[in-house]
Amino acid sequence: MVKIKKSWPLIIILLFFSFWLWWNKPQDNEVRSTTRLAMGTLFTVSTWGVTAHEEENAVSLVFARIKELELLASRQDPSSEVYKINRSGWETPAIVPNELSIVLEKSLDIWKLSHGAFDPGLGSLSDLWGFTQGVPAEPKIPAEKDILSWKAKRENSSEYGIHLEKSSTGMVTIRLANDSFALDLGAIAKGFALDQAMATLKRKGVQNALIIGGGDMVIAGSKGGKPWRIGIQHPRDHDKVMALAEITGDRAMATSGDYERFFMAEGQRYHHILDSQTGKPSRSGLISVSIQAGEAMIADALSTAVFVLGMEKGKALIAQFKDVEGMLVTENGERWKSPGFRGQWLEGP
Ligand code: ADP
Ligand code: MG
Repeated sequence: MVKIKKSWPLIIILLFFSFWLWWNKPQDNEVRSTTRLAMGTLFTVSTWGVTAHEEENAVSLVFARIKELELLASRQDPSSEVYKINRSGWETPAIVPNELSIVLEKSLDIWKLSHGAFDPGLGSLSDLWGFTQGVPAEPKIPAEKDILSWKAKRENSSEYGIHLEKSSTGMVTIRLANDSFALDLGAIAKGFALDQAMATLKRKGVQNALIIGGGDMVIAGSKGGKPWRIGIQHPRDHDKVMALAEITGDRAMATSGDYERFFMAEGQRYHHILDSQTGKPSRSGLISVSIQAGEAMIADALSTAVFVLGMEKGKALIAQFKDVEGMLVTENGERWKSPGFRGQWLEGP
């Protein structure tokens, strides 16, 4: 008792000092942004309301985290898990690390819901079209016989050839029926990386942030009460902004378009979003699809799925999710956005 009584003055001084520190904390009310190359694209982390020092620390953890996930999901890097799985064959089930199993399970869910429009197993088809990394150095339409033999291999398998199994101990393994089911997680892994990047920031106490990775993004909080403002590129004029989204709070947005990675040959546009029904770039009539969702992984996968499904079936897929909104544009200039989509049209098409 006596001891506590004696410490009161010290406690009061300490309390006062902590309050003074808190009050004088250099809380910069400005946006700080850092851009780096990761997953073959540019990632920009913007934060609000933290000091330069806090931002620097958090951002370096974010990029380390993205790098880790790249090592799981890259199709080209020989040390990645996906690379190893794609070469492991039917007889030897490959062990799937926990985080990759989350992405694969979600991929198979969306494959099912989209009736195969979202197809996480078209790696060999992407290779055939030269979209393994960026765009093909020399635009070349693959030979019809190569596309047909890819499709024939798929038809050899009576069911979808990605088999994910969970043992009673919780260990997940994967087997691919043949190489026409090689994993390509290019339409979902970036979304997962964005969600993980935001979780990393939040763990470091950053509550207000916008992280953009190759056009997809995840948002938290605001800029001192003001929403984060994000432009959606015009699909036919890259100097123009087609729409403006203003978002506050936890939300994600992804855009898939035929203008992101493509080549022109014989007067036609050949882009990187493929339709496994035809073995060719999808021609659903849509040229740009933006999806808003609670998680970037869902937004990323659904933007690709809706792109392949086209306007009507795409709208129906969006309607199946409680918390998902979309903004869709066709090559004829028809445009649609769901009532809850947070954003405004600015210019055509
Ligand atoms: P981006 O990666 O340019 O933002 P997307 O999210 O739409 O665009 O993903 C396209 C990538 O996904 C392709 O480069 C390829 O790796 C893969 N992919 C292509 N077609 C499909 C499809 N139908 N389903 C799932 N993934 C696909
Ligand atoms: Mg996508």
